[in-house]
Amino acid sequence: SEPVLDVQKLKTYFYLDQDLVAKAVDDVSFSVFPGETVAIVGESGSGKSITALSIMQLINKPGRIVDGSIHVKDRNLLTLKQKQMTSIRGNHIGMIFQEPMTALNPVFTIGNQITEMIRKHKKVSKQIAQQKAIELLRIVGIPRPEEIIKEYPHQLSGGMRQRVMIAMAISCEPELIIADEPTTALDVTIQAQILDLLFEMQKKYNMALLLITHDLGVVYEYSDRVIVMYGGQIVEQAPTKQLLSLTKHPYTQGLLSSLPKLDEDVERLGTIKGTVPAAYNFPVGCRFSTRCPFVMDKCRQTNPELLEYAKDHYVRCHLYKEEVNSK
Ligand code: SF4
Ligand code: MG
Repeated sequence: SEPVLDVQKLKTYFYLDQDLVAKAVDDVSFSVFPGETVAIVGESGSGKSITALSIMQLINKPGRIVDGSIHVKDRNLLTLKQKQMTSIRGNHIGMIFQEPMTALNPVFTIGNQITEMIRKHKKVSKQIAQQKAIELLRIVGIPRPEEIIKEYPHQLSGGMRQRVMIAMAISCEPELIIADEPTTALDVTIQAQILDLLFEMQKKYNMALLLITHDLGVVYEYSDRVIVMYGGQIVEQAPTKQLLSLTKHPYTQGLLSSLPKLDEDVERLGTIKGTVPAAYNFPVGCRFSTRCPFVMDKCRQTNPELLEYAKDHYVRCHLYKEEVNSK
């Protein structure tokens, strides 16, 4: 089948200073198919959020998409006018952010915001939109929706706010949902409830889901396919089971060995020594070479290409080059 989302050779750079360019997303290609859950995983600074924001056309100065294409069905989003893009957001792509307080407007009631969202994309009366808002809140498991629509975001708990965000994201039944760390700000017990809800909605409306996370536990539980990002590039990509059982890239191996328990600070990936290099200062050669336990001379000279190691399993690492070439 045709992909819902097809990203090709995407480059999103930030022009920090005259000679200082942060290559936050640097030649990234992938697609997401109908009904599929694809996880993008990596540490902070790996480029996963910038990838999501690029797809939504929410990159602000000094950042700019400098190359590539982003197709949703047959539309290349990079050629659309701002107004057309506004209609794509919501109608075709729903987005769920990490902290709903930043995505919800504090001065409007919940009901107001959902009905606005619905009416921006569908020509219906206020009354119909409000009925639909109540119905959506009920679907996402919010008790007493008739009363909740009169409340303001700060009157709800973090978990309830995230349910509201999910209701808004699915309100126009988009083909694709992009969720960027949707549960990071929530208590552990609420995290699982929200993720379960998200996947229930995905199945119910047969949406594709692009899930951005640093939590491999979440990847394992929910995704069909995984994209591992490092230094603004894809370093490994495979169906989830394959990636977790036949892990190839040293970075992915490091992420896995530091798989945190749910009650730990998940942002801390202790066993990979060193830190993610800044996007304006990547090492020459392999971008993981400053932290890789298997680093060789050639790693410091040339950045390996992303090669198909096995069917649907891609890896960017000099260790596998000969193996792939001899196949
Ligand atoms: Fe490590 Fe070299 Fe592979 Fe990079 S290319 S991940 S430095 S072995
Ligand atoms: Mg992020």
